[in-house]
Amino acid sequence: MKARGAVIHEIGGKWEVEDLELSGPGDHEVLVQVMASGLCHSDDHFVTGDLAVTLPMVGGHEGAGIVKEVGSKVSRVKVGDHVSTLFIPACGTCRYCARGQSYICNNGAGMEHGLAMDGTPRFHLAESGKGIGGVTRLGTFANYLVCHESQTVKLPDDIPFDVACLVSCGVATGWGAAVNAAVIRPGDVVLVMGVGGVGMNAVQGARHAGADHVLVAEPVEWKREAAMNFGASEVFASVDDARERIAHLTNGQGVDAAIITVGRVDGDIIGQAFEVTGKAGATILASIGSSDKYIAASPQDFTNFAKRIQGVMYGLCNPVVDIPRLLQMYQDGRIKLDELVTKRYDVSEINEAYADMHAGNNIRGVIVHTH
Ligand SMILES: [Zn+2]
Ligand SMILES: [Zn+2]
Repeated sequence: MKARGAVIHEIGGKWEVEDLELSGPGDHEVLVQVMASGLCHSDDHFVTGDLAVTLPMVGGHEGAGIVKEVGSKVSRVKVGDHVSTLFIPACGTCRYCARGQSYICNNGAGMEHGLAMDGTPRFHLAESGKGIGGVTRLGTFANYLVCHESQTVKLPDDIPFDVACLVSCGVATGWGAAVNAAVIRPGDVVLVMGVGGVGMNAVQGARHAGADHVLVAEPVEWKREAAMNFGASEVFASVDDARERIAHLTNGQGVDAAIITVGRVDGDIIGQAFEVTGKAGATILASIGSSDKYIAASPQDFTNFAKRIQGVMYGLCNPVVDIPRLLQMYQDGRIKLDELVTKRYDVSEINEAYADMHAGNNIRGVIVHTH
């Protein structure tokens, strides 16, 4: 069948919106009519080359849509179901899924090629016939995609797609960074560095977990103001600007958790977060960026102060459980999602949308697909 979506051909290139041919679903696969896709920063990391993937590739991994067709052995969803797309499969039976860590499901292996699990492409460029992958085996910047059933979770029918899509990546990642990775406790002092589509949810998660003080460091003024609406207690333009207040609140010890949710991370930023993290505290790394083998942190500080740096994949969430739970919290009014979507775009506007992201104009931009 025919699809249309945004493809990246080379590092440093522009997104090209192209006609695609889509192969039908295999036994354990589903055809999804993609209704909305978040413009996650991770897709931009494929463009810059921070994350190495096989190009060309259809972009997008933060999706929500409707199941239109299922393979003969699919049991997880059925035609007509509204679904969230998972950027890592949750197979349920591998070593990690079985022990409640589906955020590192073994079936994520090979994902950088974007091909189906049998190693063959589902997308084909209409013009040349060349088979290509989709980001994380999805490709939600296309209006239709075929993915493995283990990369879907059924959604309630009454959740708007442009809100639901965000929960499949940015919301789960940010929320989980605070709740699952930092393990924030009532009374804690927390610093969130960078409040985009992930960081804003780290703020919400920290508040929900009972932190007394949720400090935010964010260079963009209107985002600092928006963060107050998501539960931040005080906002600063930089970590340096927050130092005095952190010292005051913690008797000079440092924060219980410093959560890094900046657009692009490097070893100096991790070092800065680690430095303001207090004894037995956690520096939480949810951002992607440099792959240099360098972090500006003193080994002695790990030992002497019993500090840790914890990496976060998918917010350490189990999306089959956590996505419906987060959406229930949204429906109950305990977590804000509508306010995360600051602009909606047609897929033809995708380059403008990413320019807006870099300019700090969005918390989250969302592509609303047409069919
Ligand atoms: Zn993402
Ligand atoms: Zn698994």
